[in-house]
Amino acid sequence: MSAIERVEVDAVIFGGGAAGLWSLDALHRAGYRVLLLEAGDLGSGQTITSQGIIHGGLKYTLTGLLTPSAQAIRTMPGRWRRCLAGEDEPDLSRTRLRAHYCHLWRSKSFRSRLAMIGARAGLQVAPVPLDPEERPAVLRDCPGTVARLDEQVIEPASFVEDLANRHRARLLQIDCANGLEFVTPSAGQVELVRLINPESGDAIDLAPRCVILLAGGGNAPMREQIGLNTERTQRRPLHMVLARGSLPTLNAHCVDGTSTRLTITTTRDANGRDIWQIGGQIAERGVNLEPEALVRETARELRETLPELNLTGTQWATYRVDRAESAARGKRPDSISVVEDGNVLTGWPTKLALVPMLADEVLQRMRDRVAPAEDDRTAARHAHFEDWPRPRVALPPWETISTWITVDSAEPV
Ligand SMILES: Cc1cc2nc3c(=O)[nH]c(=O)nc-3n(C[C@H](O)[C@H](O)[C@H](O)COP(=O)(O)OP(=O)(O)OC[C@H]3O[C@@H](n4cnc5c(N)ncnc54)[C@H](O)[C@@H]3O)c2cc1C
Repeated sequence: MSAIERVEVDAVIFGGGAAGLWSLDALHRAGYRVLLLEAGDLGSGQTITSQGIIHGGLKYTLTGLLTPSAQAIRTMPGRWRRCLAGEDEPDLSRTRLRAHYCHLWRSKSFRSRLAMIGARAGLQVAPVPLDPEERPAVLRDCPGTVARLDEQVIEPASFVEDLANRHRARLLQIDCANGLEFVTPSAGQVELVRLINPESGDAIDLAPRCVILLAGGGNAPMREQIGLNTERTQRRPLHMVLARGSLPTLNAHCVDGTSTRLTITTTRDANGRDIWQIGGQIAERGVNLEPEALVRETARELRETLPELNLTGTQWATYRVDRAESAARGKRPDSISVVEDGNVLTGWPTKLALVPMLADEVLQRMRDRVAPAEDDRTAARHAHFEDWPRPRVALPPWETISTWITVDSAEPV
């Protein structure tokens, strides 16, 4: 029997969502020998289903205070903007934007409140109240103030593809159930990651100096597998709504008191139909509703808050997805989180917008413990994986859901 090949690497990242891919890019650019292992499709879970808004913190200052969440997130739009313009690393100039900015609207006038909130909170992205002629058509007749917020909205699938394309050689598809084993002399100390090529059946041993878990909902089972506790993780469910048809372009938050009643983002499906992704409070409340009831409730809220909107012929669907985070007593954590156990780092970005901050932290923790290897055996290392299958980018929910309903009949279409 031939011996199993052994490949030494500085880091192995598990999970190819936003957090894993951005961290892979950061570690690679810093000179580390790093591989990323993906169990499903890249971005499946949260990144591909997210609304793609690069929040600047306004959402977290609606109480009028600069909350820890807002403080953490406020520099992120500027950072992303530079990357998306190709002026900073990673160069994301091939990532498609859904919108250059978002809008805010509410039924009661809050021009003064908006200005006050932005100023008081010291946000770097503060809302700019708009005159009626500057508003998007669908918000033109809204009775309250409408404002513009310089938060970009990205197309998550295109962002994942953009980053993945730069690192194809470092991405490996794995089969967690039948083709992954850890050799752990003690809890949290991973000596070897044994992989079986899902196509050829050949085994290979990775000997990593550090293992980095950035697998979203996959972090908890992986921690268990390597003998670590899962108390540090939490899941918060959402029940999101999709509308499909001929819809106006809208990327906006409907603010109600101190919360975001609805958050709407717009994209197109592969057949050129407009798609609205609808989240915010409605998706939190919707967790306890059946899809038909949630769709009816959403349509009612839209009619109430966007009286000019014509929903005739609109088709609807819903999807459920959990936000996977570090434990914060069931509440949204204030910022990113990275925990260290032995040679294992586990990270959660909490928000897509905070992913660059998470990658910075992962890189710093790596620098604190491991210097990049001086010899560059990149070509030799990649030769081991030339025939290894590479993960694909996940499809967004509107491309995979087959049952759509209309509101009046609540019948499948
Ligand atoms: C509906 C929704 C809307 C959102 N909208 C926004 C928004 O507009 N703006 C914002 O800032 N944030 C938003 N968020 C939050 C944001 O999407 C997440 O914080 C972020 O995408 C998490 O990225 P991640 O890479 O940590 O996890 P994920 O995107 O969940 O990626 C995890 C990856 O790990 C892989 N994986 C799982 N298990 C394993 C394993 N055992 N081995 C190897 N790989 C594994 C998965 O297949 C996947 O590719 C939203 C979240 C949701 C759910």
